[in-house]
Amino acid sequence: MKNIRNFSIIAHIDHGKSTLSDRILELTNTIESRKMQAQVLDSMELERERGITIKMQPVRVKYIIPDDKKNNFEYKEYYLNLIDTPGHVDFTYEVSRSLAAVEGAILLVDATQGIQAQTIANVYLAMDQNLEIIPVVNKVDLPNARVDEVKAEICELLGVDKSEILEVSGKTGFGVDNLLQKIIEIIPEPNHSNLNSLDKPFRALIFDSTFDSYKGVIASVRIFDGVINRADPIKFLAKKQETEALEVGIFNPNQFRTDRLEAGMIGYIATGLKEVENVRVGDTIAIRKDDIVVEPLAEYIEPTPVVYASIFVETAEDYPTLRDGLNKMKLSDSSLFFEPESKEVLGKGFRCGFLGMLHLEIITERLKREYELDLVISTPSVSYTIFKTNGEKEIIYSATDFPEQTKIEKVMEPWVKLEIMTPTEYIGGVMDIIQKRRGEFINTKYITEERAVIEYNVPLSKIIVDFYDALKSSTSGYASVNYEPIEYRDAEVVKMNILVAGEEVEALSQIVYKDESAEEGKRIVHKLKNSLSREQYSIPIQASIGGNIIARETLSAFRKDVTAKLYGGDRTRKDKLLKKQKAGKKRLADKAKIHIPKQVYLDVLKRQ
Ligand code: GDP
Ligand code: MG
Repeated sequence: MKNIRNFSIIAHIDHGKSTLSDRILELTNTIESRKMQAQVLDSMELERERGITIKMQPVRVKYIIPDDKKNNFEYKEYYLNLIDTPGHVDFTYEVSRSLAAVEGAILLVDATQGIQAQTIANVYLAMDQNLEIIPVVNKVDLPNARVDEVKAEICELLGVDKSEILEVSGKTGFGVDNLLQKIIEIIPEPNHSNLNSLDKPFRALIFDSTFDSYKGVIASVRIFDGVINRADPIKFLAKKQETEALEVGIFNPNQFRTDRLEAGMIGYIATGLKEVENVRVGDTIAIRKDDIVVEPLAEYIEPTPVVYASIFVETAEDYPTLRDGLNKMKLSDSSLFFEPESKEVLGKGFRCGFLGMLHLEIITERLKREYELDLVISTPSVSYTIFKTNGEKEIIYSATDFPEQTKIEKVMEPWVKLEIMTPTEYIGGVMDIIQKRRGEFINTKYITEERAVIEYNVPLSKIIVDFYDALKSSTSGYASVNYEPIEYRDAEVVKMNILVAGEEVEALSQIVYKDESAEEGKRIVHKLKNSLSREQYSIPIQASIGGNIIARETLSAFRKDVTAKLYGGDRTRKDKLLKKQKAGKKRLADKAKIHIPKQVYLDVLKRQ
């Protein structure tokens, strides 16, 4: 245990986490340099393009330094376990579990960019876990590096002295050796306060899981107490599942089978289980023996989707591919929720739940790319808790399930706390955007003279559509965002129905804020009017709430000129013909059920 160091790297997207990790692998000869490709640890195409760090595998590297207390011919070996934290805002809980599995963290900050919203959020999570934090300024090789200024920001954030901040370049390798020595020096060895933990009953924390078709669900774990051998009986404390350790091993960086894992180590346990639901990040794995009772290592929280959207395929034949795709995604991402859904016009699809907007984006992008699917994705919505007059409580995430107004006592919706880091010149613009989204101002903190963090509470529903784009364009891309769920609050929302030719079109109904309903209703009927084609009779398009029409447009009929052949001024004959036409149209309109083409649904439903 004395020779083990477990750590994580905390960094904002693009600050160089993957590059630095690669350099560490190279420097420790974990991967021969000729096999070394840029960014071995995370190679997902999507992540490169979108700048989203998804998650890299844990890795164990062996680092040998001269033991300076003795002569230089004697070397000391260290095992450094580097585990990743998912790099985006929707996975705060998972980040916190990863950080619970280590003793230290490298705080990596880009020397040209400085501290970002996500960096701060993760630093706080690391502090919550009492981790030893090593501050590092990265990319010091760049000519526009502002090393001193960025150091000043870090000092402000961590309350450290400038001299404690390291300078590295993941690209050139400058300072990386020094960093590795600092890790050994500063980050405590595992269980440093608990030296007898090898004799205790086995306990490990799950910080990640993957699926293998032969070995079943594989849990990435940090062993806190005791020892686990291959074939040992184990159980999952929160999920109450029981099984055997089919295989145990370490990451070097591929899975490397060993006979046992001991307290302090990071490795994997193959469970043979087929259901990913049973192996959850944050759960504790313990030895299964009748006379042994163990406590969980950490509080387990079931991931709950907060953002929902319906996903359909453009062509019906693709439905099985979509279903298979979602099932496969679920194997590596148990927080993904989906259930079949079918809508008259859009056909069969799935209603899916995500941990947040970025999660939605990642999953849908992957479905599009990896399965070559053309998808129709509805405007995302949040989940509402409905308290009914009869005392029942219901959670809904679709207007279709919204109860009648008279049966509702109150509705509650999720709120989040937003932190937006921005250059000070854009503060006005940023506040403008959030104010318009029902935001509630909390505070502006100045990190330095040029940069500030603006804090707001805001309904989640107001930041899941368009928000990031609006923010980006008003800050020339300089703002960064972090948010965390805070609580449910009363929501003055109602169900808005859309009627075409007097018929309710269920698929177009929406949940809207009462005080925004008039505007929203107008927007939708207008959009519909522009996308529906004219008929021989005029078609009313209406938005209504609880039976009251709040917005209306009329798609006028195309008029066949029945009087065209009449010359001169026989007024009565002309009128007669027109009257006849009108009556005919009325009959038509009464009989006709307006057919709304698929494309129209898409236009209205698609994310703007
Ligand atoms: P991550 O999102 O934190 O994993 O960041 P990456 O490691 O993918 O790096 C983002 C970009 O910064 C890539 O284009 C890297 O080549 C570049 N980069 C990373 N580290 C350095 C560095 O030390 N110096 C320079 N000049 N570029 C770097
Ligand atoms: Mg990366």
